[in-house]
Amino acid sequence: SFHKSKGQHILKNPLLVDTIVEKSGIKSSDVILEIGPGTGNLTKKLLEVGKMVIAVEVDPRMVLELQRRFHGTPHNSRLKVIQGDVLKCDLPYFDICVANIPYQISSPLTFKLLAHRPLFRCAIIMFQREFAMRLIAQPGQNLYCRLSVNTQLLARISHLLKVGKNNFRPPPKVDSSVVRIEPRKPLPPVNFKEWDGLIRLCFNRKNKTLGSIFRQKSVLSLLEKNYITLLSLNLPQNTSSEENKIPVEVAALGEVDGEDPSMEIEDGRDDDDMEMEDNDAEVLKSDFKEKVLGVLKQGDFEEKRSSKLTQVDFLYLLSLFNKAGIHFS
Ligand code: SAM
Repeated sequence: SFHKSKGQHILKNPLLVDTIVEKSGIKSSDVILEIGPGTGNLTKKLLEVGKMVIAVEVDPRMVLELQRRFHGTPHNSRLKVIQGDVLKCDLPYFDICVANIPYQISSPLTFKLLAHRPLFRCAIIMFQREFAMRLIAQPGQNLYCRLSVNTQLLARISHLLKVGKNNFRPPPKVDSSVVRIEPRKPLPPVNFKEWDGLIRLCFNRKNKTLGSIFRQKSVLSLLEKNYITLLSLNLPQNTSSEENKIPVEVAALGEVDGEDPSMEIEDGRDDDDMEMEDNDAEVLKSDFKEKVLGVLKQGDFEEKRSSKLTQVDFLYLLSLFNKAGIHFS
């Protein structure tokens, strides 16, 4: 019997398995990372085309079944099985990742892969259809969200194949899609923590204008705190991420704040109301607000909405803020 909690939906259609392997563009010299091999239907084909398969599987019964299946076959010496949770274990070197994963690990796995070094050539992964559509969504499309912006900053994503529920046993509740993820090399020269700080703010209310987002008291006071801290340290914010910090920061791009990324927070708050405070503080506050709004005006961003902004727009916006000494982490 299969475990629902482990997302154990076995690929039953051999033609589909063939298509996935064909579309992966595997070379005979490739070390392949497979995640969640299950009973090994995909693993078998991968062993036929690649140099070596390293398979990470959490369920010990599946690990046994896999070992039994390939024991005594010529493939056996080129298969290495790691028993464990892929999100918790250290990943080995690999050229290409091919995986039919349990959908609940989609986001953390994607960013774990993108944080892995050295960078792999590409990953071919089966996702829930809606997750796949979020990954590839472009500005102006309904599903365009923080996930789209963050993954597209780090990788080129393309949709390879639609997969109906009935290709699996037992069939899952949702349709699936196979997606190709190719890490950008080199990665854009941006501080990922700051980038994500900006993107989180902007996509919390993706259909509001940036002008209204950056007039929120909570946003202004957060940014002002960062501003004052950095001023008092009298240090420039680390604008170039050191190479060894990048993986950690990349992984953080996949963190969810517990909320469904598709849900927009529209709490109807009016953030322009002022609290009673002493005069000096008020003056400082309104100065800072003017500074922030000045940056938006400078780049003509005040009336723009995140749902329509591109990668390049956000990079430009971040650079304008940073030039004004305003930072997001
Ligand atoms: N690859 C097989 C196939 O296509 O038929 C099975 C795919 S099934 C959707 C997902 C597999 O991932 C299961 O074998 C499950 O035990 C395994 N799995 C679930 N969570 C995992 C995790 N955190 N780390 C590694 N494997 C996991």
